[in-house]
Amino acid sequence: MPNMSLVKNKMPVQDAAVRKGNFLEVALGYSAEQAVDEAKRCLGCKNKPCVADCPVNIDIPAFIAKIAEGEFEKAYEEISLYNALPAICGRVCPQETQCEGKCVRGIKGEPVAIGRLERFAADYHNVKSSAGETAKRVPGTVAVIGSGPSGLACAGSLAKKGYNVTIFEALHVEGGVLVYGIPEFRLPKAIVQKEIQGLKDMGVEIVCNTVIGKTLTVDDLLTEKKYSAVFIGSGAGLPSFMNIPGENLNGVYSANEFLTRINLMKAYVDGSPTPVKRAKKVAVVGGGNVAMDAARCAKRLGAEVYIVYRRTEKELPARLEEVEHAKEEDIQFMFLTNPVKINGDEKGWVKSITCEKMVLGESDASGRAKPVRQPGSEHDIEVDSVIIAIGTSPNPLIRSTTKGLDTQKWGGLIADDDTGKTSREGVYAGGDAVTGAATVILAMGAGKKAAEAIDSYLSQSYR
Ligand SMILES: Cc1cc2nc3c(=O)[nH]c(=O)nc-3n(C[C@H](O)[C@H](O)[C@H](O)COP(=O)(O)OP(=O)(O)OC[C@H]3O[C@@H](n4cnc5c(N)ncnc54)[C@H](O)[C@@H]3O)c2cc1C
Repeated sequence: MPNMSLVKNKMPVQDAAVRKGNFLEVALGYSAEQAVDEAKRCLGCKNKPCVADCPVNIDIPAFIAKIAEGEFEKAYEEISLYNALPAICGRVCPQETQCEGKCVRGIKGEPVAIGRLERFAADYHNVKSSAGETAKRVPGTVAVIGSGPSGLACAGSLAKKGYNVTIFEALHVEGGVLVYGIPEFRLPKAIVQKEIQGLKDMGVEIVCNTVIGKTLTVDDLLTEKKYSAVFIGSGAGLPSFMNIPGENLNGVYSANEFLTRINLMKAYVDGSPTPVKRAKKVAVVGGGNVAMDAARCAKRLGAEVYIVYRRTEKELPARLEEVEHAKEEDIQFMFLTNPVKINGDEKGWVKSITCEKMVLGESDASGRAKPVRQPGSEHDIEVDSVIIAIGTSPNPLIRSTTKGLDTQKWGGLIADDDTGKTSREGVYAGGDAVTGAATVILAMGAGKKAAEAIDSYLSQSYR
């Protein structure tokens, strides 16, 4: 009998008053009973609209049916046919605009909690599992640049097919944004490590502290190191700034720097070698996931936090759940507000931010209403730190050190949507390095598609 409840099983969470002061995971995960009850809300539609909107095409009704039957390990096996990092995707994917956005149950009530069920199956497996399997090796070696979701998905798919794969990572820890961007309280790093360990157990080698473009170039990988193909999944880690007066003051951070210090370097622990200023009042500029993460981290460091966003709540690009959690944690939203100047004290530290009010005008190229200045509306907000989270673009290092690699004007690599093939023979690319800042699951989808294309390319060379 399907469960015809119109609402999802609620996700147990850490109490907002308590979690504001710690970095432990906010969402606690379904119990087995809650998971089975939620799984029974799925109608198992024949045409599976949810699957069409999943960038890696997980057979969602099939894995949910296994959970409904209490076959949790089988549910995990079903998901892992399509997705190498389900515990991560179950936590951070924007399900409301993807699979859950197409769920038939969402027409008259809430959609099935697909993300929460994916997380449940993956966590169940991760608690029970031991090492993964190693595939039979085939000829052909592939170098993957970057260990974020696109690189991990590409490496995992190729390793499953039996290729020798080496990932080269610039940082000292693997995982990309999953470890240096998304905070511990949203995505515990032990979960990322566990999923990466699964890839290592399949034979993927990861070499950290290697910056491609400096330590080695893409040309070195193909010629000197004799890799048969290269996948570039180097992300979009170059922060954008507003180019307004005062951005060089002490106490102004790009969200990337602030989050890296917190997540990777544990700046919140006393005595950390890369501390951050424990500010009293912080303005976070931007309205995406990155802005929410920076704001919630600043809150946990004890600050009063304002999100300064130039459109309205309706246009916020962040995941709904993150916005709700931020509000519960007393983060204050200043909508239709745009910074024009950051003001400093005599010692060069931030003392306030001058903003102007905006109104929404006509739609711009992205289809969103364009914010328009309201002359004479300037006002000062007293803050002692400003975090800028208005977007990022790909770092120019790889494109400037690789021959024959075509790029977009804004810096993204040009790669075929279906195969990740670039203008350079044997070189493939995907994820944020191609699309600009996007999502974990889109990056994984691109890595997976490129792995298929690399497999056909190498099959022609070796078989
Ligand atoms: C703070 C934050 C929160 C986010 N929250 C969400 C969310 O909730 N849900 C969601 O779906 N998406 C979210 N995103 C977006 C998502 O994380 C990215 O779209 C995704 O990580 C892109 O994956 P990627 O593999 O293309 O790149 P990345 O994850 O950026 O990984 C690229 C890797 O390449 C390495 N690298 C770069 N240059 C070189 C080089 N020259 N040599 C060697 N290695 C190199 C980098 O160090 C990095 O490890 C968030 C992003 C941020 C910053």
